[in-house]
Amino acid sequence: MSEHDTTRHLNERQIETLRERLESERRRLLERSAEAEEREDEIPVGEAEDMVDRAEESWDKQELFAAREEERQELLRVEEALGRLSKGSYGLCFYCGEPIPFARLESVPATRFCAEHQEQLEQGKIDETRPFDWPTSRADS
Ligand SMILES: [Zn+2]
Repeated sequence: MSEHDTTRHLNERQIETLRERLESERRRLLERSAEAEEREDEIPVGEAEDMVDRAEESWDKQELFAAREEERQELLRVEEALGRLSKGSYGLCFYCGEPIPFARLESVPATRFCAEHQEQLEQGKIDETRPFDWPTSRADS
C-alpha cells in the first residue's frame, strides 16, 4: 500500500474479489485471442471463385478484425486495471477523482469512470483525453 493508495474505500476482501475478476477476465481474453488467431488461419486467402465470394471473404475478415481489435482494447483495459490495482491507484474515477463504489467495480472491474462520468463519456459530453489528475500529481498543484 502506497501513500497515494486510492483503494481505501474498499476492504481487502473486496480488492481480492476484484483482482480475481480481472485476472479471470484477462485469461478469458487471452484464450479468445489465441482461438481467433487459429480461426484466422483457417480462412482461405484468394480462393474465391468469383467476385461475390471474394466480397464475402473480405467482409468476414473485416468483421473478424474489428472484433479482435475490440477484444485487444478490452485486454489492455483489464491489464491496465490490474496494474493500477497493484500500485494502489485503482478505484477512483479518472474524471472526477471520486471513489467508484464496489458494486460498480464488481460489475465492470476494468472501468476507469464512475457511473455518472461513464454515461457522460458515452454521450460525448466529456473527453477521455483530459482525465482527472492522479493524486500523485494533484499534490503538486
Ligand atoms: Zn466521475
